[in-house]
Amino acid sequence: MTDNTNWNDYTLETQAIRAGHKRTHEDEHSIPIFATSSYVFKSAEEAALRFTGQKPGNIYSRFTNPTVNAFQERLALMEKGERCLAFSSGMAAIMAVGMGLLKAGDHVVCSRGVFGNTVLMFQNYFGKFGVETDFVDLIDTAAWEAAIKPNTRFLFLETPSNPLIEIADISALADIAHKHNALLVVDNCFCTPVLQKPLELGADIVIHSATKYIDGQGRCVGGAVVASEEVIEKQIYPYLRTGGATMSPFNAWVFLSGLETLAIRMKAHCDSAFELALWMEQQAGVAKVHYPGLASHAQHELAKRQQSHFGGVVSFELTGGKEHAWKLIDATEMLSITANLGDVKTTITHPATTTHGRLLPEVRAAAGIKDGLVRISVGLENLEDIKKDILRGL
Ligand SMILES: *Cc1c(COP(=O)(O)O)cnc(C)c1O
Repeated sequence: MTDNTNWNDYTLETQAIRAGHKRTHEDEHSIPIFATSSYVFKSAEEAALRFTGQKPGNIYSRFTNPTVNAFQERLALMEKGERCLAFSSGMAAIMAVGMGLLKAGDHVVCSRGVFGNTVLMFQNYFGKFGVETDFVDLIDTAAWEAAIKPNTRFLFLETPSNPLIEIADISALADIAHKHNALLVVDNCFCTPVLQKPLELGADIVIHSATKYIDGQGRCVGGAVVASEEVIEKQIYPYLRTGGATMSPFNAWVFLSGLETLAIRMKAHCDSAFELALWMEQQAGVAKVHYPGLASHAQHELAKRQQSHFGGVVSFELTGGKEHAWKLIDATEMLSITANLGDVKTTITHPATTTHGRLLPEVRAAAGIKDGLVRISVGLENLEDIKKDILRGL
């Protein structure tokens, strides 16, 4: 391994383990945490050259830090993007895309099923500064196109969606966005680059909450934006440098080791989730199982085409409504009752009264989130133990 290695020639699994680390004069094998807020210049002249950007190099850790740089370089390679910037959280990454790309009078089209705080970000905060957002049904391609206006700057979506695990056609929506001079932004948190590479499918910007599968063990909060050199350099980096929602070197170090096991963890998450979905379909009291690996899933063929596997999140509707859903959740002994996902620990949640509890009942019903719906983010415990825990309340 040298600084000249062309990591583009390597596969994702190898990039995830080796790319990004510029070994120092100490010859360390594992990447160090650079716990430093600023950097020292050799002379006044060199300081001046770095500040004007005429000479590359670190200035201050709000802008760049070697541990954070390594994480950014590694994730950019894995997503097949030109550049990545890390942020203090997934929401900070979404905020940066909005702050970098939008101005008063602009318009955004967003899928209705995105993460709750993403809806609030567009509606309440960007809305406050004169950016208008229209929300559309994720899988209704015609509705996306119909919602676009001359001032639409970007389309924003998550696929698969939460909690119904619906799949949007990234290529089709990228074509629509580009036809109207807009960009396509995809929050790739559920799939990670291991299962889906939105940039290869035509998307322009990828967002991550590194808090989920990238960490994978529920320790740190972080986020990232991956895009072209041009978008990052002109629109996102200047905002990061000024806005300051920087990822800490410690968190970057945790996420770097998370990336090293991401491919193998995602495979195990997906295998267990698929098996659990098939098993749930056989259980009495279960009205419907939402999982794109099932032939019964409305976008099963699209998921097969677009993703390399079907993901680690399964949701299902119980015939007994909210009462049965709460009973099942409360009867578990091992599963964690938490809305977080992407952890080695299996988590279980009741979307209608937690993540989607603030929606009006009729809005929730229109979104298809029934009172009997339970969402499970399948962890890496033995699947038989997970099934046994679910059976207690079934
Ligand atoms: C959790 C999550 C976010 C927000 O990320 P944080 O790291 O919690 O700020 C954004 N999008 C999706 C899909 C998420 O699951």
